[in-house]
Amino acid sequence: MKLRTVLLFGAPGSGKGTQGKVLGALPGFYHCSCGEVFRSLKLDTPLGRVFVEYSSRGELVPDGPTIELWRQFIGNCRQGGHYDPANDILVLDGIPRNLAQAELLRDTLDVRAVVYLTCPHPEKLVQRLQRRALKENRLDDANLETIRRRLETYDQESRPVLDFYGRELLHEVDATQTPLDVLEDVVAVIRRITAG
Ligand code: ADP
Repeated sequence: MKLRTVLLFGAPGSGKGTQGKVLGALPGFYHCSCGEVFRSLKLDTPLGRVFVEYSSRGELVPDGPTIELWRQFIGNCRQGGHYDPANDILVLDGIPRNLAQAELLRDTLDVRAVVYLTCPHPEKLVQRLQRRALKENRLDDANLETIRRRLETYDQESRPVLDFYGRELLHEVDATQTPLDVLEDVVAVIRRITAG
């Protein structure tokens, strides 16, 4: 059975994690942030070291280990009873993050909507990431050069994922609004796809 999924999509700093956390707190939804799965790794494990190496450069971790880690994580969540695909909508944030990952997950995910959090002002994203660096103590948010590299990686590698899923699934939400207004728009999209 494929996993019923809503993809939260957007540049670093667009608010995917903020929205995903709120939705994931509701019964009937399960939020999975790929970045958080990586950050939960111990740094003295081989994959933990690979994650630090790539994320501190603002680059994506290679696809093979990323998808394997993600599958393991989701499998554990199912086994642990935290996520029940028969009843819960999977709210995915940060994966798939390039075309190869979208292809690898084609047979696993039943993507019902791609919620694209749009922010036309890169300076605003940079500001948000710099603020987050202080609050969440994230190495990859701390350095301006790494932030710029992440925004480039997003433009070059992640943005094409929007075309992979196509226009019918695409729902744009203005990410420059207040988090509450963004939530209202995201909820409206989810209402539409779950109605009836
Ligand atoms: P943000 O979206 O703000 O950049 P994330 O927490 O989603 O932050 O990701 C942090 C880092 O984790 C990324 O820069 C990348 O190195 C790694 N990462 C997260 N998800 C993926 C993925 N699907 N594929 C490869 N690398 C990933």
